Amino acid sequence: MSCLNPAQIELTMIEPKDFIRTRVVADLDSGKCSQLVTRFPPEPNGYLHIGHAKSICLNFGVAQEADGLCNLRFDDTNPEKESQEYIDAITRDVNWLGFQWQGDIRYASSYFEQLHDFAVELIQAGKAYVDSQSSDDIRANRGSLTQAGIDSPFRHRSVEENLDLFKRMRAGEFADGEHVLRAKIDMASGNINLRDPILYRVRHVSHHQTGDTWCIYPMYDYTHPISDALEGITHSLCTLEFEAHRPLYDWLLDNLPSLPHPQQIEFSRLNLNYTVTSKRKLKALVDQGLVSGWDDPRMPTIAGLRRRGYTPESIRDFCDRIGISKAEGIVDMSLLEFCIREHLEHTAPRAMAVLRPLKVVLTNIAEGHDERLVAAAHPNVDMGQRELPFTREIYIDRSDFEEVPPKGFKRLIPGGEVRLRNAYVIRCDDVIKNADGEVVELHCHVDLATLGVNPEGRKVKGVVHWVSASHSLPAEIRLYDRLFNDAAPDRNDADFTTFINPESLTVIKDARVEPSLATASGRYQFEREGYFFADPIDSKLGQLVFNRTVTLRDSWAKSGAGA
Ligand code: ATP
Ligand code: MG
Repeated sequence: MSCLNPAQIELTMIEPKDFIRTRVVADLDSGKCSQLVTRFPPEPNGYLHIGHAKSICLNFGVAQEADGLCNLRFDDTNPEKESQEYIDAITRDVNWLGFQWQGDIRYASSYFEQLHDFAVELIQAGKAYVDSQSSDDIRANRGSLTQAGIDSPFRHRSVEENLDLFKRMRAGEFADGEHVLRAKIDMASGNINLRDPILYRVRHVSHHQTGDTWCIYPMYDYTHPISDALEGITHSLCTLEFEAHRPLYDWLLDNLPSLPHPQQIEFSRLNLNYTVTSKRKLKALVDQGLVSGWDDPRMPTIAGLRRRGYTPESIRDFCDRIGISKAEGIVDMSLLEFCIREHLEHTAPRAMAVLRPLKVVLTNIAEGHDERLVAAAHPNVDMGQRELPFTREIYIDRSDFEEVPPKGFKRLIPGGEVRLRNAYVIRCDDVIKNADGEVVELHCHVDLATLGVNPEGRKVKGVVHWVSASHSLPAEIRLYDRLFNDAAPDRNDADFTTFINPESLTVIKDARVEPSLATASGRYQFEREGYFFADPIDSKLGQLVFNRTVTLRDSWAKSGAGA
């Protein structure tokens, strides 16, 4: 292979790791298309979720690999459910995931005039007609999977009459539902999508992009292939539920011969357990106040994952690992959690935070003792050092002390020793209780000969994290867990909201964090606790708020319950 042409050299970038990439390579190789053009076509009727990330990574990813282009196009044909808020959120999320579309953001609504003209062309060719049946009759006469449909009594209107009615539909002479424009295909087709599908309907509503210019709106199935063709899309990648719509996609383009004919290819949707990925259901969670908003860190939305502390890299890695195929399946939530742990393990600096503080007085050091210990910000990546003030009074976590330890307990017990992480070994001499018998303070002895070395003649197994009582900072910690405690909350036999995990959010108001976090932003591993993200909205100097992104280990794997 000595004489590769430039196109083939580019192609070495794209690895045919799935059937879509294999197909793209073949189409570029054979010269069927000279440059790959894909698009991501969201409807601006909600925020993007993790399922959309799969489609985004595919469409933008394959275009990048093949040195092609990818458009961002809003499929905005349903103005009642759409809004600028959703457009802004979707745009932000695609960018945040690390992708840039070709040129300007596109809108199907920018093609309304052309779409209208193509409809006129279909009418003129006797391929479309105005139907004046009621919507109930249209539905009833469509037939079923086992029964052919029935022709509309209006199916044989003349071209002139159809043109006149369609013109008057556009002019606003008719009320919603009075007439529709339908393709004239085959009411007996085995594919219900070909039984004279509706192309246009009358809707007297204003549109977020076109205002009151239109009172007829094209249907998605009509708009999509034409928008693809107008943009020079070569491969129109969509999810499997559109497979049965492909014959209509092809019929429309076959009957509009001036347009190029993109290839629709379907792949399976991402289904993730322990969550719902349907904009309708996510919107219901928001509307019913079951979460704080679309960006609630428990939501599987891109905005929610971002606020939880997920990184774009981890989401792209997840999409890469699940791959692309036609097989329907359910991906385990643990894989997504694995991907963020993998990324943060190497990129998040370490810090200490005591979530449920228990005061420890180190009785053998002086009142004003103020020693500055140093610890690496990361055990094996050079991220510099942090200073840990070590004082007579410190906090450890309540769960790291047990008066009556369960078997195998390796942390602090009366008379026992533990190492304070990055510091000394302490021994618990006294347990101070309040009138209710609750432990409120421990008096401990610190072995000052144990900084960075093991104590003489004895083994200390346990290590606990701690902070200085006087130098640590107060913080609010939001412990997020899976939003649903059922693996399939949107199975059909139940209301998915009944599976909401009551422990999906625990707010701790009085945690203490090490002083190096005073100006915290971004992500940290709080040693022994998990990965945390300074809440980008609520966390401020003097009022720190951290969201738990993920625990250090998968606590759902065996128990099936949260930690
Ligand atoms: P939802 O079912 O959540 O309402 P949708 O399919 O109506 O989603 P669109 O805005 O139309 O949402 O989606 C834009 C693109 O994202 C489409 O090409 C769609 O196929 C794709 N997509 C949506 N959900 C998933 C998913 N779970 N997995 C992969 N791709 C998806
Ligand atoms: Mg859709």
